[in-house]
Amino acid sequence: MAKYWHEDIETMPREDMRKLQSERLVAQVKHVYEHVPYYRDLMDKKGVKPDDIQSVDDLHKLPFLSKADLREAYPYGLLATPLSDCVRIHSTSGTTGKRVVAFYTQHDIDLWEDCCARAITAAGGTEDDVCQVAYGYGLFTGGAGLHGGSHKVGSLTLPMSSGNTERQIQFMRDLGATILCCTPSYAAYIGETLHDMGLTPDDIKLKAGIFGAEPWTEEMRRSIEKSLGIKAYDIFGLTEISGPGVAFECAEQTGMHINEDHFIPEIIDPETGEVLPEGTVGELVFTSITKEAFPLLRYRTRDLCVLSRKKCSCGRTLIKMAKPMGRSDDMMIIRGVNVFPSQIETVLIEQGYSPNYLIEVDRKNNTDTLDISVEMTPEQFSDKMKDVQEKERSLAAAIKTMLGINPKVHLVSPKTITRSEGKAVRVIDRRKLHD
Ligand code: AMP
Ligand code: ZN
Repeated sequence: MAKYWHEDIETMPREDMRKLQSERLVAQVKHVYEHVPYYRDLMDKKGVKPDDIQSVDDLHKLPFLSKADLREAYPYGLLATPLSDCVRIHSTSGTTGKRVVAFYTQHDIDLWEDCCARAITAAGGTEDDVCQVAYGYGLFTGGAGLHGGSHKVGSLTLPMSSGNTERQIQFMRDLGATILCCTPSYAAYIGETLHDMGLTPDDIKLKAGIFGAEPWTEEMRRSIEKSLGIKAYDIFGLTEISGPGVAFECAEQTGMHINEDHFIPEIIDPETGEVLPEGTVGELVFTSITKEAFPLLRYRTRDLCVLSRKKCSCGRTLIKMAKPMGRSDDMMIIRGVNVFPSQIETVLIEQGYSPNYLIEVDRKNNTDTLDISVEMTPEQFSDKMKDVQEKERSLAAAIKTMLGINPKVHLVSPKTITRSEGKAVRVIDRRKLHD
């Protein structure tokens, strides 16, 4: 049996897991209260003492932490150990505002890598695999997390980082990579490049991909699986909570198992902060119960999703989170309608278009405008203006059916939309620039 199939934990009966979580939570709350004055103040303001937290049932009594708190406390304000005990820093990939930094002790790195190793194992990875890590290496957690996980599994690790796509494919072929780890948008790009190089999935040995760090649709999954001839697994995580591997997919592909022995999830109403019952869509909140250096309690991720305890065919009892539909701050309100980029992606791929698109939102004469540029595949590319206009009309109609508002669709020539080697930028909202 694989080394990182943690059967005792991953298939633990629900009651035992709650007990384990409760023990760890109680100790963690004390640790944070004693060592993080910023959070102690929040608890004091709410009138909660560490002794009030006796089990997971008391979790709701604790105050939330948000990105704003992390910015305010930047850089050391939420550190719970002496800096000399820390061995690593990572940072979120956000491009606006002050970045958020997270600290890790060696213990924290170890448990994070364990989580990634579980994810690789769930995707079928063993010491016989060659694992190509094409997430970016650096401050971003993607490269480091999967790299560490691959080492733990004992796979032969190819630390490619992202970019230089033809070379990625050359190494993939020469060294017989069997597992590819990168963002889904980069996986789509690698698949496209493979075909452009006149190759097919038969020319490579890949069997699985572990893709995450950004939202992607089921339609995108099928498209990548086909272009690379693999099974594509989702992986979720965020720097504030450790990095990739907070949750990972098993072969059932119906949501990601959360590593509940380390992270307690809750779903809350983003408006009121009230905890919502299982099965309701809301904002995902995590509490780290095993981290030493940067143990966030009730951290609001802004990711919207649903939790489910439905029995999984893989045997794991770890709770599952559905694919997040995006962050609450990815949601655009266009002419009063809530729109997620993922809804648009679903329609595009369903209608046979490539996953290369750009959404532009603006406001003209007090009305919101929605322009979607979509690349045609070489086969769809036609010089006849009439055909293109007809295709644009029919795609706009399909998107209108999905969203309820009319977009302007622009079909553009193949290869004119910039490809992503990391997290894709799909939306430009110019309204924010006017404000
Ligand atoms: P960062 O810490 O900068 O890597 O960003 C973490 C964020 O990326 C999460 O809060 C999610 O919004 C997003 N994310 C990570 N993994 C996934 C995934 N598998 N599906 C959808 N969104 C994801
Ligand atoms: Zn499962």
